[in-house]
Amino acid sequence: MGTTEQHELLIDGEFRPSESGDTFRTLDPATEEPIGTVAAAKEADIDRTVESASAAFFDWKKTSPEERGRLLYALADAIREEKERLAELETRDCGKPISQAEADVEGCARYFEYYAGIADKIHGDSIPLDYDHVDYTIKEPLGITAQIIPWNFPINLVGRTVAPALAAGNVAVAKPAEQTPLSALEVGELALNVGFPPGVLNVVPGFGAEAGAALAGHPDVNGVSFTGSVVTGRTVAKLAMDNTTPVHLELGGKSPNVVFPDADFETAVENAITAIFTTNAGQVCSAGSRLLVHEDIHDEFIDELATRVAELSVGPGMDAPDVGPLVSSDQHEKVRKFIDIGREEVGEPVVGGEIPDREGYFVRPTVFDGVDNQSRIAQEEIFGPVLSVITFSDENEAIELANDVEYGLVAGIFTEDLGRAHRFAREVEAGQIYINEWFAGGVETPFGGFKDSGFGREKGLEAIESYTQVKNVCANIGADR
Ligand code: ADP
Ligand code: MG
Repeated sequence: MGTTEQHELLIDGEFRPSESGDTFRTLDPATEEPIGTVAAAKEADIDRTVESASAAFFDWKKTSPEERGRLLYALADAIREEKERLAELETRDCGKPISQAEADVEGCARYFEYYAGIADKIHGDSIPLDYDHVDYTIKEPLGITAQIIPWNFPINLVGRTVAPALAAGNVAVAKPAEQTPLSALEVGELALNVGFPPGVLNVVPGFGAEAGAALAGHPDVNGVSFTGSVVTGRTVAKLAMDNTTPVHLELGGKSPNVVFPDADFETAVENAITAIFTTNAGQVCSAGSRLLVHEDIHDEFIDELATRVAELSVGPGMDAPDVGPLVSSDQHEKVRKFIDIGREEVGEPVVGGEIPDREGYFVRPTVFDGVDNQSRIAQEEIFGPVLSVITFSDENEAIELANDVEYGLVAGIFTEDLGRAHRFAREVEAGQIYINEWFAGGVETPFGGFKDSGFGREKGLEAIESYTQVKNVCANIGADR
């Protein structure tokens, strides 16, 4: 491979090297070859970014909501126009199948479009008091907001976290993950091209412990959005809390996918596969990583599932496989370790478990059957194509098992019984419930966790609440005061 492309930090409308001159390399996980050299932001760069963002905010908050919306629409269009190029870049940087990268780019555009439409509809209330008072609320932006983004949905999460921030009148400093920094820089450049003022959207790639921590702990940052692991999320929240900076955390999951005997068999099998294998090789916080199957259909269901999982193709994302490589050697090692743990806990998987003998971070989709819900492969987030199957015998047991985990991000149920589906929705501790479709919902539907899966909501109108603060104004207008 020849020289890799150089990428700089986007600060205050300009691409520039880091103050230290340090760089890092990002790899193509299908080949393990470097595809780019990227400036590594550190504390000095974050200081500089926040300082210029502060000046940018001074003007941006005075921009009319209508104008902010128009810029966001323009950015959505620009992203769509570049869809193919961006999707290819995304696949090369993070490994996912090209059709999924295309969907992620479209998703990113859709976030900017959705929040473009909301920019001029964010308003407060007028609250009736006695005859001598007038009272109203204003929803003000927080100011400088930081978006710390993981490597599993790099460009999609730029849209999800940055679009509502900008729509609400905040400026943004996005820190993509060190494994996948390229697409966020592209979105930053497109924002400049369509006319966003310098400093409104900054993009500062770098390592978590350096760039991420400096950003989360910066005293002049006014809001932090974090998506990633529980451990890192807690660290980020503590850093933010030292400055009383509000933070929302979108963390992991160990989400139950519950199948009852009356479910449409074909739909349930297909969704079980989408939930943990064919969506980004299971590297998704809302993966259906625990499959709870009723004992009456268990054997038939697992036979069919195993047959289809064995047929899934595994290969480089550009070849449009069912399952791409994992993002990094660290992640590859972690997943392999969990497959070993699974072998110790329950024995050989019913399908998968092999590590293809080739370059790239590949793992065959793996199903462990007869798993005890208390075992590690049922309790810990693996973040890869590894499914734990647990059997249950009635609705109460299914709900108990569904809730018997520290996480609470999503939960899914497959059944034709409407009452049962909604009882499940009521009883299960999770931020979103899927009925008869895994990953149901869209840009419009609020998303976030219960329990260890975090707090605060992204997507939908709820995200605007996370990016605004309410000011109440109360006036005595009495004639004889
Ligand atoms: P993973 O361990 O799977 O890489 P993380 O939750 O650690 O996931 O990473 C998510 C994001 O958080 C990335 O952008 C990463 O750089 C960042 N990050 C990691 N450690 C820290 C930290 N100590 N402070 C702030 N951000 C961090
Ligand atoms: Mg990469």
